[in-house]
Amino acid sequence: MTKFYEKNFSQRLKEAVPDPKLQELFLQHADLAHDKVIENYLTDLPVPVGLLRQLVVDGHTYLVPMATEEPSVVAAANNGARFLTNIETVYQTHLRFGQILVMGDFDTLDAVYLKHKDDLKKTAQLVYPSIVARGGGLKELHFRQMDANSFSFDALIDTQDAMGANIVNTIVEAIAEQLRSWQVDVLAAIVSNLPTTSMTEMKAVASGLDLPSMKKIAALSHFATIDFHRAATDNKGFLNGASAIVLASGNDWRAFEAGAHAYAAIDGNYKSLASWTINSQNQLIGRVKMPVQLGIVGGTISQNKVAVGLLKLTQVHSADELARIVLAAGLAQSLAALRALVGEGIQKGHMKMQRRAKGEDK
Ligand code: NDP
Repeated sequence: MTKFYEKNFSQRLKEAVPDPKLQELFLQHADLAHDKVIENYLTDLPVPVGLLRQLVVDGHTYLVPMATEEPSVVAAANNGARFLTNIETVYQTHLRFGQILVMGDFDTLDAVYLKHKDDLKKTAQLVYPSIVARGGGLKELHFRQMDANSFSFDALIDTQDAMGANIVNTIVEAIAEQLRSWQVDVLAAIVSNLPTTSMTEMKAVASGLDLPSMKKIAALSHFATIDFHRAATDNKGFLNGASAIVLASGNDWRAFEAGAHAYAAIDGNYKSLASWTINSQNQLIGRVKMPVQLGIVGGTISQNKVAVGLLKLTQVHSADELARIVLAAGLAQSLAALRALVGEGIQKGHMKMQRRAKGEDK
């Protein structure tokens, strides 16, 4: 008997969905290209895409699509961006982080590492020649002890304009195979979603706000550095903006958010990713620094024609540029949220948009 996942799309639709009206609905929203992307494909789930119209990053004005189901997010991002006339890159690195997790004793493993480091690097280049030809590939390999018998070979890999998880996994699995051939007890090899070698830091100066409001925003931002409950919600506000672009660009938003939250707790004390402070010239300064692994090619981006079109609309030319736009939008979103909270409160704007979304407010 043919298994469910082996049946063609229309057979599966008929078998799983007896109601003809639901069948029609799911068919209407289906994109048959996606039948090859995931197993047991049924339909597409529409998510509204709105525009952040004037996001100025490093002197360049971007038109940025945001995919979100939450009514007030796009309005807030546009509102926050009004006060940020230029958001600048402070710092950016882009080596993705792979791990080969091994067990054993330090002396034996360290000896293998010292003796075979260059062989392992060669293996990495040979298994993925196309990324090497693009100027990427394994750049560094480190040996790190975690506890008495647990170790990681950390592989720092340039995946160019790809998010890179598959590229990294191919390379670390090849290194793992090679280590096993030398009797190293390799448990697993996998990309890390906390690539501390793939960091983006952005800084923004807010203008057009009065000093009392700026002081309240900075004070509220401080609360998100000293209280987990407030920090989680502050990060939700930042990610409202950032993740909406990650999703619109066809990227893996779980990978992005896993990195965000892990980095927020990197010193053992979960904090906000974005922070707002007042400098000596009474300017409100926003900053964000976190690991980002996004791509403009690779994964399933090319199978998502709308995502490809949206990337084209934004005129983004590299994965690093996309990372900067995403964090800049997060800062705009964060400012709008904090400004509303210390001003009229969050509910007035939120509920107006909710009512409009439900068709109650014409
Ligand atoms: P791919 O496996 O598709 O690799 C990217 C491909 O893009 C390369 O093979 C390369 O082809 C091609 N390419 C074309 N132009 C460029 C360029 N300028 N720079 C770099 N590559 C280019 O995808 P990724 O490695 O990016 O992996 C992303 C996927 O991995 C996502 O779908 C993610 O969900 C998934 N994933 C995530 C995990 C995690 O986060 N933990 C774990 C496992 C998977 P060529 O051969 O021509 O060089």
